[in-house]
Amino acid sequence: MSVADSTETDWVSRFADEVIAEAERRAPGEPIVCASGLSPSGPIHLGNLREVMTPHLVADEIRRRGHACVHLLSWDDYDRFRRVPAGVDPSWAEHVGKPLSSVPAPPGSDHASWADHFKAPMIEALEELGVDYRGISQTEQYTSGAYREQILTALRERAGIDAVLARYRTKQGEERPGAAYFPYRPYCEMCERDLTTVTAYDDDTTELAYTCACGFGETVRLAEHDRGKLVWKVDWPMRWAYEGVVFEPSGVDHHSPGSAWVVGGEIVGPVFGGERPIGPMYAFVGITGMAKMSSSKGDVPTPADALRIMEAPVLRWLYARRKPSQSFKVAFDQEIQRLYDEWDALGRKVAEDAAQPAELAAHARAVRTSRGPLPATPRPVPYRTLASIADVTTGDTGQIGRILGDLDGVAALDEVRPRLDRAQAWIDTHVPAEQRTRVRESPDEELLGSLGEDPRESLRMLTEGLDEHWSLEGLTTLVYGVPKLRAGLAADAKPTPEVKAAQREFFALLYRLLVGRETGPRLPTLLLAVGADRVRKLVGA
Ligand SMILES: [Zn+2]
Repeated sequence: MSVADSTETDWVSRFADEVIAEAERRAPGEPIVCASGLSPSGPIHLGNLREVMTPHLVADEIRRRGHACVHLLSWDDYDRFRRVPAGVDPSWAEHVGKPLSSVPAPPGSDHASWADHFKAPMIEALEELGVDYRGISQTEQYTSGAYREQILTALRERAGIDAVLARYRTKQGEERPGAAYFPYRPYCEMCERDLTTVTAYDDDTTELAYTCACGFGETVRLAEHDRGKLVWKVDWPMRWAYEGVVFEPSGVDHHSPGSAWVVGGEIVGPVFGGERPIGPMYAFVGITGMAKMSSSKGDVPTPADALRIMEAPVLRWLYARRKPSQSFKVAFDQEIQRLYDEWDALGRKVAEDAAQPAELAAHARAVRTSRGPLPATPRPVPYRTLASIADVTTGDTGQIGRILGDLDGVAALDEVRPRLDRAQAWIDTHVPAEQRTRVRESPDEELLGSLGEDPRESLRMLTEGLDEHWSLEGLTTLVYGVPKLRAGLAADAKPTPEVKAAQREFFALLYRLLVGRETGPRLPTLLLAVGADRVRKLVGA
């Protein structure tokens, strides 16, 4: 069953409509093909995840409607290793020009190759995210000879391909290269690098001659040669035709004049007899909060980094609720707490049947796929509460259990997992030391000694009310109520501006006495976390 009856519900539904109709026209009765491509040349970051999530969501909607649909994920591991990133042994420079699958993994890795090293965490993250795809190694495809026919075709049609490319070269004012054009580049037999130049090609015999910067040169029969690659602008349209791709999004950088998307669209029909897929351009995915981190990696965060601090449905939701053309940010800073509040509010609206159709669709795509529901936290205690508790207890599970029991009748920590673990990880890895909460070991005698009768009376009222109000809701009433009662108002009265000022002053005093600062986690949560006896000790009552 589809997520919504109306096909106008959200961007995913609209693309699914379009893709189903187009697939029916192009290849009736065949499984519908959606595609993504990822380069394992380095860490695969959250922006690249959009390359996968966009077709995943569309493919999943197509499957929900009962159509056979395959999501191909091409690992571009036969691309050349371009440069040695900062932080990697400079001796890796000798591998520049080799296929990523032939370069040794970065020092310290237990993976067989550079490509495998960067693929592995992405494969794990996609599994956790419930993304159902068929992975294709382009190294395996090329070296097994799967594309041999297509390569020979591209060589035969090289003049036509060159003419298409030339139009854009002229538009961009680039010089035409003087040498003959060959859309194929061999990896050198001797040094495995692609520092090669094709010097001759014979269409009849398919004999191709090349020389390499290393000094090596040879003539091979291309009809039997499986160690080379079509250039990118020809490789991509070749695969659209070979795989019958109907939907494949790409980043903004692929859509400029003369780019692979534009050129490929002109090549795919005349050369390979295929069609360009339906392909939305997707916008940038930004990050908040990573800059402040002292990350030893010093680079952009990956989906695995995000999944350490948020549950899979929440990360899915970020990609589902925005159209591909809209950019958005993934929060690694305090903003994640607001994101979770928003997510929980949506969950309540959905439960009460009060969500708008587009909200409902995004929520449904986040929490389940056509295969079934994703793991959920049985009791979704607010993330900010769990984060505060993790902060104040420094991760002591015994204390966490006691507080959650007081707070919400949580009997076992498993009821609040995996959300608790994500909040704990966020506190541990993304909250700077100076923002962490440290509950005072002993009372601030100097501050207590300096207090007048008025604040002392407020603190006395607070401590006397603790036992009776020992719940999140009760303590909220208590801390806001004490300044009202002191002003002669009822505990549930609307606060006057004077009372609001008195509340701010009272809260600041409590923070100073409990954690030695002017601010901290929400007071009711903090009081629960500190425990009634210790609160009494620290406020001197
Ligand atoms: Zn060589």
